[in-house]
Amino acid sequence: MNTILVAGSGFSTSGPDWVRRHGTGHRLPPHELLPGRWLRRHRDAGAEAVLAVHCVGSLQLGLEPGRLVVPDDVLDLTGLPYAESGGPLLHVAFDVPFCPRLRQALLEAARGWPRGCVDGGVYAETRGPRLESRAEIRFLAGHADVVGMTAAREASAARELGLCYASLCVVANHATGVARGEAPATARDIVARMEAWAPEVTRIAEAAVRVVDGNGSAGKCPCADAAGPADVSAPWSGAKR
Ligand SMILES: [Zn+2]
Repeated sequence: MNTILVAGSGFSTSGPDWVRRHGTGHRLPPHELLPGRWLRRHRDAGAEAVLAVHCVGSLQLGLEPGRLVVPDDVLDLTGLPYAESGGPLLHVAFDVPFCPRLRQALLEAARGWPRGCVDGGVYAETRGPRLESRAEIRFLAGHADVVGMTAAREASAARELGLCYASLCVVANHATGVARGEAPATARDIVARMEAWAPEVTRIAEAAVRVVDGNGSAGKCPCADAAGPADVSAPWSGAKR
């Protein structure tokens, strides 16, 4: 399987298969990213799958910094587009937002991570680029486990494009107000933690690619064939006027 790896700016993404979503020097803000555009470029160049690393805040006290999470659902509260306009109108099913095959590969590759890896959880996406208020986090904590600014729209765009997609979330901090008495982490705190863990997280993501390749076509996933039943832009067969 032709798999690309995607990460933020704190990773040693010098390998030929790594993509930096925020560009060089962290210059592209999350709310200005249009994942459908750059994912389409990679798909057209032959990519079939995307393993994406995300830096997230924890919405739950027991989900401590340093843990990994392989989420299985999303909550997109950004109100932002994820794909370019002008393509076919697709209403893709999204009951399984992340590819089950890629998720299993990530879980297998992350087994040795000393701080633990959580199988499943809801990723809530906020618009950014600012971090969230206490009230926003209190609201989100009732509905999700981690919060970030990119994974939900990337997953949406990938599904429309027929790409397999899964996320490896690295919990960098407790989100604002989750840990009472703890000063909220600044962006620089978050970057410092991610940089410390980046070498090992990079190895896990690259190991997951080898697991995917080793498993071949084992297991079914809804990704590659998602567009067909979702395309309702053709004339409606039942419409008689
Ligand atoms: Zn898939």
